[in-house]
Amino acid sequence: MRNLAILCLCLTVACAMARQNPAGTRKGGPVTLEYMGAAGWRISDGATVILIDPYLSRILGPPPPLAPPYTRSPGDTRPGYGWNDVAAPDVAAIDAHVAHADFVFVTHTHYDHILDVPHIALKTHSVVVGTESTANVMRAYGIPEKQLITVRGGEDYDFGVLSVKVIPSLHSPLDHKHYFSSETAPAGMKPPLTLQQMHPEGGTLAYLLRFDGHQILLFGGINYIEREIEGLEPDVVLVGAASSRKEIYDYSGRLMRDLHFPPLVLPTHWDNFLAPYGASQQSSVDALQSFIQEIRAASPKTKIVVPKYFEAIPLEPELK
Ligand SMILES: [Zn+2]
Ligand SMILES: [Zn+2]
Repeated sequence: MRNLAILCLCLTVACAMARQNPAGTRKGGPVTLEYMGAAGWRISDGATVILIDPYLSRILGPPPPLAPPYTRSPGDTRPGYGWNDVAAPDVAAIDAHVAHADFVFVTHTHYDHILDVPHIALKTHSVVVGTESTANVMRAYGIPEKQLITVRGGEDYDFGVLSVKVIPSLHSPLDHKHYFSSETAPAGMKPPLTLQQMHPEGGTLAYLLRFDGHQILLFGGINYIEREIEGLEPDVVLVGAASSRKEIYDYSGRLMRDLHFPPLVLPTHWDNFLAPYGASQQSSVDALQSFIQEIRAASPKTKIVVPKYFEAIPLEPELK
């Protein structure tokens, strides 16, 4: 059974490598990161494409607890969705920005992290790594088992072109610390799923990605378990930067010290994901300034780049 699992994993990785490199001569360039909004990122060296929590549909869905009421900008005629509605992914938006992916890492199964992943997985045949909850949402949409790698945190997996340490983590402390969910999306769900059905958190993970000489620590929410990250030395960290971090004791200070003052921090999950791409994010950018000050105070040598949607942020090859 164990040998079979290893064989399946090897075949999956071999398939992913063969797709990206039919000639067998992998040619990677500099690693770039691109912010796609919410907690979504694309990481690529031109040969291998890695997505994290890709969410491009930006539906007008239920807001996070205590979020101010969303005001539509002029011309925003998108339908609004409630928890019992089915929201189809915005295929045009996904297809405009995601042509290819080898791996998709999902931190947890809230709709702003998971809604687009079934379509992306079916379209790109990428390997989807996530919790049992994530796997069950994928199964509901018919993603083949060979594309699914279910993890719980603690795994350290070698995929050839990259390796990934899966890190147990925590969800953002929404609703003034009252947010709590032990729910997992169950097996056997039938599509299409309502937003409620694809919203049981299922636990939250972070990932340490080792890729082309870089160590990139990926968070998809605003919290962490200190003992799980102590001693890591990533050269890039995607840090959840929304205001719920203020519920956490010394969020930025502990994080920077635990990670030995990483050279580059990219704030994530800081925009208003209920707004369409073209809408102003000025209030979110304004709110981000206190996060930037926190990181600067805790780690003066750390570079902080506020990402713009779909603008590639190149990593220095000799960063660390
Ligand atoms: Zn969430
Ligand atoms: Zn989220």
